[in-house]
Amino acid sequence: MTPGTARGAGVGYGAGIGLAVHVPPAPVAPEHEAAEDIETATARIHDAFDQVARALTDRAAHATGPLAETLAAAATMAADPALTDQTVRQAGAGFGPATAVTRAVESFATTFQEAGGYLAERVTDLVSVRDRVVALLLGQDEPGMPALIGRSVIIAADLAPADTAALDLDLIAGIVTAAGGPTSHTAIIARQLGIPCVVGAAAALQLPAGARILVDAASGTVVADPDEERVALALRRARRLAEVAEDDRPAATSDGHRIQLLANIGTPEDALRAASTAVDGVGLFRTEMLYLDRAAAPSSAEQVGVYRQVLDAFDGRKVVLRTLDAGADKPLTFATADGEANPALGLRGYRTARRHPELLEDQLAAIAEAATDHPSPVWVMAPMISTAGEAAEFAARARSHGITTVGAMVEVPSAALLADELLAPLDFLSLGTNDLTQYVMAADRLSTDLADLTDRWQPAVLRLVAATVRAGKTAGKPVGVCGESAADPLMALVLTGLGISSLSMSAPSVGGVRYALRAHDLRACRRMAEAALAAPDAAAARSAAAALLDETVRETLHV
Ligand code: PEP
Ligand code: MG
Repeated sequence: MTPGTARGAGVGYGAGIGLAVHVPPAPVAPEHEAAEDIETATARIHDAFDQVARALTDRAAHATGPLAETLAAAATMAADPALTDQTVRQAGAGFGPATAVTRAVESFATTFQEAGGYLAERVTDLVSVRDRVVALLLGQDEPGMPALIGRSVIIAADLAPADTAALDLDLIAGIVTAAGGPTSHTAIIARQLGIPCVVGAAAALQLPAGARILVDAASGTVVADPDEERVALALRRARRLAEVAEDDRPAATSDGHRIQLLANIGTPEDALRAASTAVDGVGLFRTEMLYLDRAAAPSSAEQVGVYRQVLDAFDGRKVVLRTLDAGADKPLTFATADGEANPALGLRGYRTARRHPELLEDQLAAIAEAATDHPSPVWVMAPMISTAGEAAEFAARARSHGITTVGAMVEVPSAALLADELLAPLDFLSLGTNDLTQYVMAADRLSTDLADLTDRWQPAVLRLVAATVRAGKTAGKPVGVCGESAADPLMALVLTGLGISSLSMSAPSVGGVRYALRAHDLRACRRMAEAALAAPDAAAARSAAAALLDETVRETLHV
């Protein structure tokens, strides 16, 4: 890496420039700290935890949103008698008070880490409580933010919510932490406060204090003493990306050709998050998420409840549910065949119904029940359909439950080649380009060694996509894409040029695709599609399309 540069995970798209201010490390209990008599120690420990709990509660009361929640959670921890009792026990075992706190917190943190999930995420709160209590016990200043004197970029090993609560927002140009990922506290709070932020950038701890620092969240980089051109570019991109994120108009090319932009989801929580963004609905609800990691299929009542939650979240917007896609990389203990030599080529996807038709029938019944009288159009499709016979069988099954809009995913070459026949009993097709690429190229989608083969720009994949779209046009039925290809703005333009009617992707990718669409007319998309289709290999296909891309889009999206 270039000296003076650190790389991490950017939070959002912001960019900022300011002087480096390092947050000093947390206070530590002195080695061989002398024990105090237990009565004094107990009183001091209780008093310190009380003071910290009160201060955190006070800050929580003056904050809002996730920041208020995390501060309140930290305050609850500081007030938790289990933590104080454990600390007093450590003091009783002969440790000095600051050491006792450190040991008690360590044992709680280990338990939290082992529990994983929500509790593991609370370890930062626990550590922040410890630092504050230790500082009080040692008679030191409250740890955390130094006073700022100008526009500053805060660089820290990690930041506790209480630190972020103390930030003077007028003086913060950016935040950089060595620890943490995109869902860490710092990331969540920086997002809430709109502060340019890069997390997980360990090398930033070495950047000199007082240096001019550029924080560029869009590229996840932190640069010391950047040249003016670089600063201007980052700020320009950040401004445009903020506009992109705010654009909630229906997606269309510049000449008004409408494309539905839909979200891929797996859980009701995903649904709630995606529903609050400007998407036209759900293009792929991976219902298998409900079946994974359990000993038996979810009951009918549970399924109806979950499907309803998702439909309610999108109240009135279209929702495409995919029936159970188990097997291969998503095995189910109660349904997946054991001992298959090639599970990816085995009883997976729709084929699960050969051995367990009851799983599919129960699911279709639950979907039909959830869909009854719901304002959202409910579309249902099967994964891994390979023959016209399977398509017809699935259509009959779904319709017998009263489901009216029935489709299939095109994920294996045979489905693309037989798209005309598949469509006869169906209402729509959705291209699962992740699996389609894997099966066209005979290359495991999870293999990093074969990434050149599992490239979505492979001409063989593009030609099968084009053939599927042609079949849709002939039948007058919609063909969408719900694989990763849809999330790539350049590929989205090519797919639009090919004649795709909807693109489904993770909700955060929608803004970039909408922006790219708006900057090109349908003719330009068609030219890109033709250029990509005519290319001899994946790299050439991508560059042929990229050569026709609008310059501002290229600069803004880093295409
Ligand atoms: C696909 O294969 O492209 C797809 C969308 O399905 P999944 O990624 O869930 O296999
Ligand atoms: Mg798939």
